[in-house]
Amino acid sequence: MQEHLQQLYRDALVWDAHAGVFPSPEVDLNLLDEWPRAGASYLSINVGFDVMDSQDTLATLAAYRRRVLDNPDRFVLVGDNADIERARGEGKFALSFDIEGMNALNGDINMIGVYHALGVRQMLFAYNLNNAAAGGCHDDDSGLTDFGRQVVHEMNRVGMIVDCSHAGHRTTLDIMRESSKPVVFSHSNPSALWQHQRNISDEQILTCAATGGVIGLNGMGIFLGDNDIGIDTMLRHVRYVSDLVGNEHIGIGFDYSPKVDVDIGVILRSRPDYWPAGQQYDTPGIKHAGPAQLPELVDALADSGFDDAAIRAFLGENFHRVAASAWTSD
Ligand SMILES: [Zn+2]
Repeated sequence: MQEHLQQLYRDALVWDAHAGVFPSPEVDLNLLDEWPRAGASYLSINVGFDVMDSQDTLATLAAYRRRVLDNPDRFVLVGDNADIERARGEGKFALSFDIEGMNALNGDINMIGVYHALGVRQMLFAYNLNNAAAGGCHDDDSGLTDFGRQVVHEMNRVGMIVDCSHAGHRTTLDIMRESSKPVVFSHSNPSALWQHQRNISDEQILTCAATGGVIGLNGMGIFLGDNDIGIDTMLRHVRYVSDLVGNEHIGIGFDYSPKVDVDIGVILRSRPDYWPAGQQYDTPGIKHAGPAQLPELVDALADSGFDDAAIRAFLGENFHRVAASAWTSD
């Protein structure tokens, strides 16, 4: 890595918009050390998804929250961007939580405020399959429901990032029309480069950018290509989104889990309804890029013509801008 890029990377705000260890109250949060070791400043950790019920999500959130708060020498639980600045100044890792899908609400709109109070700063509408709020990307997409519309307004009101990843095409366009704040795809890649139901169309990318939002680069090999996590492949995905909508709308949401190489195949095969056949989830040894690949990716971005400002925007400033607006309560 060139010396000036090393300096840029050391000084940059590095924002990973979605990842985590597999959500369970038993999990060892020492696994999260991999992020700050790789230079990451902030991570949104997944504490639940629609495969779990609301009780299990609350129990996981409670356990993670306790462990983060019990280690104030290492972690800062983020409420807003000022907490991220404070964490960086103190050399600590900044964290908040996300939930993938609205089953965690159990049909109760008031749970959004409860989750917000407990540190959840980003929610996704569906996890691959339809639920009471939204249609999923691996389902017969039913669109945003009346309940889902209320959810968008409540998230805007309390100050939570509206996240369209994992929802169906039509549903995401409904969500983006409904939101009064910028909307993100925290971990989704362009389907123009690799056809997969988890990837997103040019129309979705353009509509997201028009809200002022950001599209986070997913590091999972089966969403990047044929289980391909090469630096050139990741660069192609970033370049594609940048060429389509500009450098203000690119970011990182690696979807990486430190234990991923061990058990992701087992997890994915355990629920073929959520991870259906024909979508490469049965690929042996699914590869996964994570924060450790970032220095190499930064080098490649610079070599291909991204200037320092564009690299900083990609590394974290774009998501930081979205949070400045989305985390403000109305
Ligand atoms: Zn996900």
